[in-house]
Amino acid sequence: MTNSSPLKSICVYCGSSDNGPAAHRDLARDLGRKMAANQIQLVYGGGRVGVMGAVANAVLEAGGVVTGVIPDFLLQREHGHHDVTNLEVVPSMHVRKARMAELSDAFIVLPGGLGTLEELFEIMTWRQLGLHDKPIMVINPDGHWDRLRELIDDLVAAGYARPENARLVHFVADPDSALAGLKAQLTGTTHIETGRL
Ligand code: AMP
Repeated sequence: MTNSSPLKSICVYCGSSDNGPAAHRDLARDLGRKMAANQIQLVYGGGRVGVMGAVANAVLEAGGVVTGVIPDFLLQREHGHHDVTNLEVVPSMHVRKARMAELSDAFIVLPGGLGTLEELFEIMTWRQLGLHDKPIMVINPDGHWDRLRELIDDLVAAGYARPENARLVHFVADPDSALAGLKAQLTGTTHIETGRL
């Protein structure tokens, strides 16, 4: 059976650390299992550790397809995952992020740290500039990203971000809502109000 929906691959941005709450790695595993069950390929940063490793291993264990994209200088530090379906080793962070975006139909952000934030803001601003039109979901399971949402609201209130650009990123509570929201946006079937969790 092949996946005939427009949602065939998702780039997942998330933490490379194992020091966050265990519930975040459980959430990543839940997302990974659901992606594999829906025949959606995972595109991610190619590491074996942290929330990244959890989502990748869950997709693989469930029989799904995983493409990791990692710069050569991070192979050691992020423990490059050599058991993924495809591991692309690239020369720089810039090539990594461009390649991850190119391979994906949509983006999901899980809990993470500074690198995750940087990746989210880059893909959001690329969309703001019209460089792509792929949907973006942030999974905010336990308030991890509440201050991020407030910061984006503050930028709108201050006049530095347009409300329509702030709405380019949707905050949802769980993987089911994220996958349903991405499918709805890609097919243009429903307008779902996922934005204000
Ligand atoms: P973190 O959320 O800090 O654990 O990082 C998650 C992922 O973001 C890791 O794979 C980092 O390599 C990646 N990342 C992307 N851009 C950056 C950046 N400018 N600084 C740090 N990490 C980054």
